[in-house]
Amino acid sequence: MKIIVLPGDGIGIETVSVAVDALEFVSKKFKLDVSLKHDIAGHESLKKYGTTIHPGLLESVKNADGLILGPMATYDFKDEAKGEINPSKFFRKSLDLFANIRPAKTFPGCGTPHKPLDLVVVRENTEGFYADRNIESGGSEMLITPDVVVSLRRITRLCCERIARAAFELAMTRRKHVTVVHKANVLRLGDGMFIDSCRLVGKEFPEVQIEEIIVDAMMAHVVRTPERYDVLVTTNMFGDILSDLTAELSGSLGMAGSINAGSDYAMAQAAHGSAPDIAGKNLANPFSQVWSVAMLLNWYGQRKNKPQFVTAAQVMETAMAQAIAAGESTKDIGGKLGTKETGQALLERLSRA
Ligand code: ATP
Ligand code: MG
Repeated sequence: MKIIVLPGDGIGIETVSVAVDALEFVSKKFKLDVSLKHDIAGHESLKKYGTTIHPGLLESVKNADGLILGPMATYDFKDEAKGEINPSKFFRKSLDLFANIRPAKTFPGCGTPHKPLDLVVVRENTEGFYADRNIESGGSEMLITPDVVVSLRRITRLCCERIARAAFELAMTRRKHVTVVHKANVLRLGDGMFIDSCRLVGKEFPEVQIEEIIVDAMMAHVVRTPERYDVLVTTNMFGDILSDLTAELSGSLGMAGSINAGSDYAMAQAAHGSAPDIAGKNLANPFSQVWSVAMLLNWYGQRKNKPQFVTAAQVMETAMAQAIAAGESTKDIGGKLGTKETGQALLERLSRA
């Protein structure tokens, strides 16, 4: 498996380094055929090449089987014509990574005051309000007058059906329950089409129970009765917001692992940002990135029918869970260690696994 590593900005440098160490360790241990290639994107690339995505990067990424993308600070990326392309959005669109899979699970010992949960947000990743900038051309936000902006939200049947299918397939491997999160009472056409597509695809999975909930009510329900939920499927922006909530309910945004999956490619990317407030301080929780990488290995193992990759992913997740239970973790989840020390403790656990 060829993997490109792009560490990103802020805490990305620290967390991706821990995840890559863990990946190299399990690759050796389980004799996985993994080769890593390190490259740059984002601010580092902007400094060196004058663009956040340098020429040749997409081709080399496409030639690999997967990508590890660290968080990218994008607050100052305003002009794509100047090369200030948002790398995260760029790869999601260029590689058609339509399913953003964001699990949230309460690991024992992570010190959250909230009720335990174990669910997965399946977020549509290519359209909705974030369908803007189809890279070559303009965007879907328009300045109509100096004081009026119109933002367009694109919803297509194709994208609704494929994200619904990803959710139902995932539910079949879990507790066989899908919750469709929507706002069809207001966004009648777009979310109406989304619900219709979920119902239609759901018919192919008669064993899976399907439930529909309006997004604002969902925010309350998931806090009050998180145990009710297994797989939550929703459109792009709702999924973005909902998954930050569920990550925090599980303990911390620092636990927010995720992959962005297409039909034949996946990108491991923590669900949080570059956390400039704690960057460079050895405070960041690396488990979001470690978990993302474990998910990437699992995805590849399932797709390519390579069970040793699935085993390695499980071992990574188990080691992470044991580390958290033993308090070998960062402050955000009640541990006492720094980012680096958490990584070292994880390697020790992996060596005993
Ligand atoms: P960006 O613009 O890159 O998204 P941000 O300021 O929105 O940056 P986030 O990364 O989204 O910051 O983080 C939101 C909050 O969660 C911050 O207070 C941050 O410190 C915290 N946080 C995010 N990731 C982690 C992590 N891995 N470990 C600990 N805390 C984290
Ligand atoms: Mg953010």
